[in-house]
Amino acid sequence: MSRSAVLLTGASSGIGEAATYELSARGYALVLAARREDRLRRLARELDPSGSRVIVVPCDVADPAAREALVRAALEHFGQIDVLVNNAGVGLGGGAWWKDPDWPRVLHVNLEAAMALTALVLPPMVERGQGHIVNVASVAGQVATEGVYSASKFGVRGFSFALRRELWGSGVAVSVVSPGFVRTEMTAGSRLNKLGLPMPGPEVVAQAIAGVLARPRREVTVPRLYRLAALAEALPALSDPLIARGYSARRR
Ligand code: NAP
Repeated sequence: MSRSAVLLTGASSGIGEAATYELSARGYALVLAARREDRLRRLARELDPSGSRVIVVPCDVADPAAREALVRAALEHFGQIDVLVNNAGVGLGGGAWWKDPDWPRVLHVNLEAAMALTALVLPPMVERGQGHIVNVASVAGQVATEGVYSASKFGVRGFSFALRRELWGSGVAVSVVSPGFVRTEMTAGSRLNKLGLPMPGPEVVAQAIAGVLARPRREVTVPRLYRLAALAEALPALSDPLIARGYSARRR
């Protein structure tokens, strides 16, 4: 059983909650971060009543001071962070993004926070010559579907692939997990629910996260069927009008 310390953001629901169960079962030590402290505490109590192997640090990852406090708390408890899983993420309801004045929040949470947390945990990893950054992107970061959300997730992928090269040979691995459409709070009210796409629970993504922890990979797309989606960007003459069909009503 591994006792590596994993800092997991967005642990309070969906993919992060499922990953918490999966990684705990595999023996990892965990730092659970999200804003909803009550949910994190319930999870931690259930998985580790002793409070020594699974700890909770309430954190808004969009807040620079809270990010620093999160990393500090993790280091104080475990001495080092072996793995950072940047999973916290948000989307914007269903309407046109330019009508929502709060649209930059998606970039702050999905992209900026992932980069900033990476910058905070990386120096000791590079010094030790050991560590792993796992970034949860999206198939919407492979196929452009929604302006701000896709920008954030294309950004997460670009950042991760570049970082992997920047850290090549350093002993620090970088992996991307790109989920397709899975059943979580984020997708509960989505119009995509009506398209009949396969929509498994978040456990498949949790298993993929556990899988890259055991064997780092450049990118894993789950469910596997969604690997075909990447073809859409290679064939824009077909995909542009197809994907655009869903948007005309939202423009008004
Ligand atoms: P979810 O159930 O809504 O979970 C999102 C998580 O992010 C929650 O734990 C939430 O916790 C946390 N979070 C949001 N804003 C935060 C903030 N400012 N600070 C700290 N934590 C924050 O959705 P999910 O589907 O599991 O999403 C997890 C990741 O998968 C996201 O990066 C998402 O983009 C990605 N993804 C999901 C799908 C899908 O179909 N579901 C597909 C592709 C990619 P609090 O609200 O407690 O802070």
